[in-house]
Amino acid sequence: MYLYNSATHKKEEFKTHTPGRVEMYTCGPTVYHFAHIGNLRSYIMEDVLEKYLRAAGYTVNRVMNITDVGHLASDADTGEDKMLKGAKREHKSVMEIAQFYTDAFFEDCRKLNIKRPDVVQPATGCIAEYIEIISKLVSTGCAYLAGGNVYFDTSKLERYYIFNDHDEDDLAVGVREGVEEDTNKRSKNDFVLWFTRSKFEDQALKWDSPWGVGYPGWHIECSGISMKYNGEYLDLHCGGVDNAFPHHTNEIAQSESYLGHAWCPQWFHVHHLNTPEGKMSKSKGEFLTVSLLEKNGYDPIAYRYFCLQSHYRKALVFTWENLDNAAAAYGKLLNRIAALQPGGDADPTVFEEYKTKFLQQMGNDLNTSMGITAVFDALKAKTNDATKLAIIGEFDKVLSLSLLEKAAQLREKAAQAVQSGASDYVITGEGDPEIDALVLQRYEAKKAKNFAEADRIRDVLKAKGIELTDVKGGASWKRL
Ligand SMILES: [Zn+2]
Repeated sequence: MYLYNSATHKKEEFKTHTPGRVEMYTCGPTVYHFAHIGNLRSYIMEDVLEKYLRAAGYTVNRVMNITDVGHLASDADTGEDKMLKGAKREHKSVMEIAQFYTDAFFEDCRKLNIKRPDVVQPATGCIAEYIEIISKLVSTGCAYLAGGNVYFDTSKLERYYIFNDHDEDDLAVGVREGVEEDTNKRSKNDFVLWFTRSKFEDQALKWDSPWGVGYPGWHIECSGISMKYNGEYLDLHCGGVDNAFPHHTNEIAQSESYLGHAWCPQWFHVHHLNTPEGKMSKSKGEFLTVSLLEKNGYDPIAYRYFCLQSHYRKALVFTWENLDNAAAAYGKLLNRIAALQPGGDADPTVFEEYKTKFLQQMGNDLNTSMGITAVFDALKAKTNDATKLAIIGEFDKVLSLSLLEKAAQLREKAAQAVQSGASDYVITGEGDPEIDALVLQRYEAKKAKNFAEADRIRDVLKAKGIELTDVKGGASWKRL
């Protein structure tokens, strides 16, 4: 596979430290509120990446943190604690908030066919690991104490800006968001490894440490959790593009200073979901959640389809109209798959040929829109329906668009409509009203014993490239 690597700014051949095995880490959600669909775009694309790697034959160990402590309103360690903010808003304890929004996050994931990572670790569960890393960083002079907090000393690094395709304005997160400057820092890029109670008197979760009672900074949790479950050599680190700085930059700084060797060579960043007004956020405009999509009548998988239509390294613009278009295209695709007749044997040669091509196309920097095109190509393949269904089922192990399940539901619904007498003639096809009308006219002609007219319509359909199959209680058609 070839994957764009944000650390080198190039598309490169994907490699792993141990052949055949991928140690993969994903930055998880901060569980103080619902995830918006922009956050979920990242998790969808990372899910496709994981499933692609598995389909390509790798064993994958995927680890994700849940941030339930230490993430302040600004990524540059200033402002209010996000978890405290959530707890105050809802008059609940921090742990209640964490549990509620963790469950809500995985419920959204389930609706979007996002697989749960192999390891999911709340940040509050690895305090001993962070203390061990921070202790070593302090003892080796990579970190210092100031004003009760422990800071990482970025001046000790040979190179700090790993993802330096940002401009300086973007980098100055704290300044941009107009939050207070932390005067304890020796230089502006230094970041907090451990807060003591000097920061927030009302901090709910506190632990004893060599530097006083307090709590870990946000960045240290991903290094600690990854090293615990992925080991010292991480192959692939994923996250949204806004995590690249300062979060991922700081993860690299502290991990490599602690380990004394290179930590993670490959970085996968998913770009923003925007609204026409700009970057999507929880506080601006409509708060777009999976529940809102459902409330407005959309199948969450149509949103997944919408995301897959576009490349993960391009900003994607969300409008209800764009989602409508994706939902219509998705519905049409399902109808075409429903028109295939299950049963019979698949042709293994054709199956392998299509699978190989699919892996090649998707393997070009996770080209998901080519993955969807591949499903349409399979529908047009010169082979039997059993083979087409087998190919589509195989592709969907990676795309996870519930293609076979939902097509089967459509067939079932059509059969039930006939049985219940709700309809005495059911047409399954590609959802084209013009063709459906002709198919129905032919049926009416046959019922009226006007066989010449029925044959004529059949010829018209044939001339349009339509293959018509009479099935029990109706007809099924497809384009050749
Ligand atoms: Zn992280």
